Amino acid sequence: MQKNLLNMKNKIKYPLVVIGSQWGDEGKGKVVDLLAKQADCVIRFNGGNNAGHSVVVNGEKFKLSLIPSGVIQQKKLFLAQGVVIDPKVLLDEISFFEKRKIPLDLMIDPRVHIVMPYHKALDAATEAWKGKKATGSLHLGIGYCYEDKNNRFGIRFEDLIESKHLKEKLAMYFPQKKKQIKLIFGQKVTLKEEDIYKTYLEYGRKLKKYLGDVSTYVGVNIKKKKVLFEGAHGTFLDGVFGTYPYTVAIHTMSGAIFPYVGIAPQQIYSMGIVKAYTTRVGNGPFPTELFDKVGEKIREVGQEFGTVSKRPRRCGWLDLCMLRTAHRLSGFNYITVTKLDVLSGLPELKVCVAYELNGKKIKELPASIHDFPRCKPLFEIFKGWKSDISKIKKYGDLPSEAKKYVEFIVKELHVPIAILSVGPGRGEEMYL
Ligand code: GDP
Repeated sequence: MQKNLLNMKNKIKYPLVVIGSQWGDEGKGKVVDLLAKQADCVIRFNGGNNAGHSVVVNGEKFKLSLIPSGVIQQKKLFLAQGVVIDPKVLLDEISFFEKRKIPLDLMIDPRVHIVMPYHKALDAATEAWKGKKATGSLHLGIGYCYEDKNNRFGIRFEDLIESKHLKEKLAMYFPQKKKQIKLIFGQKVTLKEEDIYKTYLEYGRKLKKYLGDVSTYVGVNIKKKKVLFEGAHGTFLDGVFGTYPYTVAIHTMSGAIFPYVGIAPQQIYSMGIVKAYTTRVGNGPFPTELFDKVGEKIREVGQEFGTVSKRPRRCGWLDLCMLRTAHRLSGFNYITVTKLDVLSGLPELKVCVAYELNGKKIKELPASIHDFPRCKPLFEIFKGWKSDISKIKKYGDLPSEAKKYVEFIVKELHVPIAILSVGPGRGEEMYL
């Protein structure tokens, strides 16, 4: 083991992007909150309110779905153009922080697209039509909002600010959407254009004060300030390189920040968040999934239930094929390992080190989803540890079995570990 892989001495560099290396829910919220302490600003660059993050401060859990996780550290916050906004959800989140007297310094790019009620109706109708092959969407309309964005059929934040633009665009788009819901999916449409117009204009009026050119601000300040980018979804929810079609509709890897924020390609440091085991919500392949009591125990101890959906997450062993692929896609300079405490008390732990596919060993995920059912995970077995590790502050004080497990991950990926998290709260981690 190269010593420097375990001896970062807090040398985390900026601009830094935080990326989930699995299927999401790796604990990015906690890590962004920790890193935001040193950063000047936090930029959310992708996804909508289908992403949920939790930050625990002094035993209180803050659930965030649109506002960047730097909010509790009271840093400058940005929603870049790659994000889509459901204005009602955002206003509810803003009002939560206002009530708590937590100041909010937020800028939203005018190019951000708006999730409209017909996106949600279409989302629900499509999932019903797909039946057993449903993607597992939460009917929040995010995918349809991105579809309209890409098809130049969307309503942007800039359109909510002026009544003329909102009226014009709704008059053009809504009749088409109505037809789609009714004629293609056979669903009744109860939405009324005039109601949508009034409601969304009011949202625009309330959100207008946050309007600002995020692309320019970040471009100008990226070398002068400590800029932290927050990825909303895990790597394998990437709409191309993830387990398509059981994914989101956008890119989730580090390079996505350039178009999604609107900045030139340049040196960015990247931190992969690695949960000590694997989870996923919704449908789709999951080679190391556990269907037994061990999986149930991990779900229960790790509280693996969706932040937004409350759905139980599917649980399984750590998969190095995923982590290697995530590292290749996002070029991790560091990793943070989270939720190691959840594995305490298990007699043995397994780590998938490769797959056997058509008689050959492969060390990354297959490129085609159709190969997943043919992949047989090959495991290395580790001895577990019994004691509670959640109060440990020094890496050296961990049980030797826990150290062996962490060091195996670090060695296999050959990426230094910056932080090891052993509990949800601030302070329940160690910097290496
Ligand atoms: P995100 O989507 O990646 O931000 O992850 P979530 O916030 O949805 O889910 C992670 C959950 O694990 C949250 O409830 C966190 O409070 C919690 N969490 C984060 N790190 C740790 C950890 O090291 N140990 C434990 N037990 N919980 C953690």
